[in-house]
Amino acid sequence: MEEDIKKDRAWIEINLDNLEYNINQIRSIVNKKSEIIAVVKADAYGHGMLEISKKLNDMKIENFAVATLSEAIKLRKANIHGEIIILGYTNFDDLKYINKYDLTQTIVDYDYAKKIANMDLKEKIKCHIKINTGMNRIGESYENINKLAEVYKIEKLDVKGTFSHLCVSDSLDKDDKEFTKQQINNFMTCINKLKALGINVGKIHIQASYGILNYPELECDFVRPGIIMYGVTSELGENINIELKPVLTLKARITAIKQIKPNETVSYGRTFIANKPTKIATVSIGYADGYPRNLSNKGVKVLVNKGYAEIIGRICMDQLVIDVSNIENIKQGDIAILIGEEKEITAQKIANTSGTITNELLCRLGSRLEKIEQ
Ligand SMILES: *Cc1c(COP(=O)(O)O)cnc(C)c1O
Repeated sequence: MEEDIKKDRAWIEINLDNLEYNINQIRSIVNKKSEIIAVVKADAYGHGMLEISKKLNDMKIENFAVATLSEAIKLRKANIHGEIIILGYTNFDDLKYINKYDLTQTIVDYDYAKKIANMDLKEKIKCHIKINTGMNRIGESYENINKLAEVYKIEKLDVKGTFSHLCVSDSLDKDDKEFTKQQINNFMTCINKLKALGINVGKIHIQASYGILNYPELECDFVRPGIIMYGVTSELGENINIELKPVLTLKARITAIKQIKPNETVSYGRTFIANKPTKIATVSIGYADGYPRNLSNKGVKVLVNKGYAEIIGRICMDQLVIDVSNIENIKQGDIAILIGEEKEITAQKIANTSGTITNELLCRLGSRLEKIEQ
């Protein structure tokens, strides 16, 4: 867009120093030989994939992971350097782009590899092989050593790595820890069996954010942090062994202020009824911006002029209303903070009230929100 519209109605502020801080924190706890594969899928969890990735490149991070081919191409076209791994499936018709843009594809299972083996491709496909150790989403089973051995021998594949994914590494429950240890053990045993057959498995990796937090000592070549890189944990009230600083702050403008009388109502459905004279303010953000509608009437607060104001009535598509009776000097054009580092408005707290995890909350902050570097 030609017009320079900044901080107009609702936007995200990105603190790249905090990103750097979090990366250094992650580097400080993982095994010395583990390098970071930065997970920047879903527009870097709503933080802006290109800006985040450029900063990571500046920090000597040379490995990125995305979910889709389109995300990977977008990164490469923006001159992000290093390896770009697509963690998910790429349709056969589109595999030609893997080479064209120098990308790395995940081999989702034996059948996928065999189909590629029979394709008419000019060059080898650079890839990482996914091993299923219990997540049961994608990956060839760790038990199928013979099938796996066949995959590594496929001429059309240029295997650079082998990985798996943990499904309860966030839980400190005894059984869940046992399950995770079993997954890690099955992965490592599978790797060793393949090596014993003379197979080069490439670089190995299994830890996402909670694998890093709860099993930092693993000796893998890579770790794959997503959510913790952005400075938040997935859920509320977790005790973790590193300090994280949130990278994202969500802000919006106050667009109108008015006084309502007792028994007047606010917003659709008239779910909020004033029981006393109330000063209210309208904020220009809504569920179309990714701020969840199910936060309506839950006592959720936003920060305005250093004071907390509660959201009242139903959150609309583009707007919401807050009770500012206790906020002084509030005026049209002031700024409300909806997600930030303050206790009542952390991503963890907001996600929890919305019945989800921060990963979902953040990655759904929509394309309509402009992203501004702090
Ligand atoms: C999304 C994803 C990650 C990052 O997950 P976080 O929990 O956000 O750290 C790592 N690995 C795989 C395979 C993923 O799909």
